[in-house]
Amino acid sequence: MTTHHESVDVLAIGAHPDDVELGCGGLLAKLSSEGKRIAILDLTRGELSTRGTPDERHAESEHAAAILGLCARENAGLPDGGLSNTPEQRLAVIPFIRRFRPKVVLTLMTPDRHPDHEAAHYLGRDACFLSGLMRIDTGQEPFRPERIYYFHPYLDAAASPFGIVDISGFFPKKLASIGAHKTQFYNPDDRSAGTYISSLEFWESIEHRARFWGRRIGVCHGEALYSEGPVSLSTLPGL
Ligand SMILES: [Zn+2]
Repeated sequence: MTTHHESVDVLAIGAHPDDVELGCGGLLAKLSSEGKRIAILDLTRGELSTRGTPDERHAESEHAAAILGLCARENAGLPDGGLSNTPEQRLAVIPFIRRFRPKVVLTLMTPDRHPDHEAAHYLGRDACFLSGLMRIDTGQEPFRPERIYYFHPYLDAAASPFGIVDISGFFPKKLASIGAHKTQFYNPDDRSAGTYISSLEFWESIEHRARFWGRRIGVCHGEALYSEGPVSLSTLPGL
C-alpha cells in the first residue's frame, strides 16, 4: 500500500503570499492547534508588489507559516499579475494537490476586483477537479479533494457566506501571521511608497472585519466561508 507522508487535512491556496492569512488565518491557526495537518500553496511570489522583494516575501511567508503551525508551505512560482486558468497553469498546480492529497481545499472567492484573485478562484477549482483524472500524467497518483471552500482576502464581495467560523481566541495568531508579512502592511517606520494594504486604515480594518463576522454569529471574531452550492452536513449544527 502506498503511504502518503505528506497528506494534509487542509490545503489553502492563495494568489499572493498573504492572501490565505488575510482570508482564513484564524481558521488555520485553530485547526492546527487541534492537531490537523495544514499546508499553504501560494501561486505566485508576489513579485509585482510595490514593497518587498521576492526574497523578503519568502522569508516573511516562512515566518507566517511557523506562527500558523503549518506542516508545509510551497510556492508554485506562477507569474504575479499573470494568473490565468490555462492548461499550463493548471498543470503547475495539480502536482501540489496530488502531493498533499488534502481532504479540504480552501481558495479564493469570486468576485474580486484583483485579476489574480479572480483567476486563482477558477484555477484552484479546476485544478482540483482535473487532479482526479488519471490521464493527466504528472508521475503521481490522481487525487481529487472531496470539498472546496472559498474565502475573500479582504473585500467581502460575494453575496453571502454559507457559514462563519468562530475564530475567537485565534485572532491574535491571525493578526501575527499577517504582521509577519512586514514589508506589506502598516509600518510607521517604512518610508517607501504606500499601498492600499499598507495604510493604517487597512491594518485596523482587519480586526473590524473579524469582529463584523463574529457579531453575525454572536462571538468575538469570525471568518466567512463560501461554497459553490449547498454544503453537506452530517448532523444538525449546534447539537
Ligand atoms: Zn492577493
